[in-house]
Amino acid sequence: MSDRMVSAPVRTARADVLLASVGERGILCDFYDEAAADIYRDILHEDSWEAAEYAGRVRGTAGPVLELAAGTGRLTVPLLDLGREITALELSGAMLAILRERLADVPAALRDRCTVVQGDMSAFELDRRFGAVVISPGSINLLSEAQRSGLYASVREHLEPGGKFLLGVPEKDTGKPDTLERSQEIPGGSGRRYVLHARLVPAERAREVTICPADETADPFVVCTSRISFVDADQVGRELGEAGFDVLERVPLVFGGGRHQDVLLVAAPSGDR
Ligand code: SAH
Repeated sequence: MSDRMVSAPVRTARADVLLASVGERGILCDFYDEAAADIYRDILHEDSWEAAEYAGRVRGTAGPVLELAAGTGRLTVPLLDLGREITALELSGAMLAILRERLADVPAALRDRCTVVQGDMSAFELDRRFGAVVISPGSINLLSEAQRSGLYASVREHLEPGGKFLLGVPEKDTGKPDTLERSQEIPGGSGRRYVLHARLVPAERAREVTICPADETADPFVVCTSRISFVDADQVGRELGEAGFDVLERVPLVFGGGRHQDVLLVAAPSGDR
């Protein structure tokens, strides 16, 4: 698979088994594609506490904001409250459609400051520069190493002097060999249940995730997949250094005073302070 085909579904071993057993009812898609949009909405419980951490850091910058991998706008809408111009870039047409619906429901004063763009965060060219570029935690884990270096280069090209790159990443690599394969049931908000199967692919330093309905008779039987690379804060910090950034801050994203899994890296192009 080429690096550019980021939204082509990953053919996981689990998906092969499932699709073989459900025959024509089976549909394989990427977790962020159109066919999975209902499942995505059903199982993702959006929370807003992270948005406050991002907003606090964005406030210390000036000028327009670029949000990469904006998804359905979990961070976009709270960031619009800061009163800044925001460009929300997202690869998946299905996610963009949900984001557009969401923006249609917010006051025009906010909506009018948001520009929505379909694009690839690992290779993009926009005709303006930004005071802050933000990415929500976990999104960088959807990129391969080559794509990550494309991301850093693209971000550098789009930062104004003094601009900051705010990047959420897992604190620690979670690829523990004791969890080679696991399955768990997850409830959807609709009452439907799903099975999430995760398999470690050590050679690729990644985990393959497969989600399907718990109801074996579901028609269509949508099998959605994703590949999550194990990159953590230390590794991304090193990669940023090689790509010409200095990491200025490493802020734990602490939920409700409890444990944290993610950190927010605040970076700026080297020699830019
Ligand atoms: N920021 C949102 C979405 C996170 S999910 C939130 O916090 O809720 C990750 C998002 O990254 C998905 O919407 C997926 O479609 C998008 N994505 C995956 N690869 C991408 C790429 N190469 N370029 C841009 N977006 C991408």
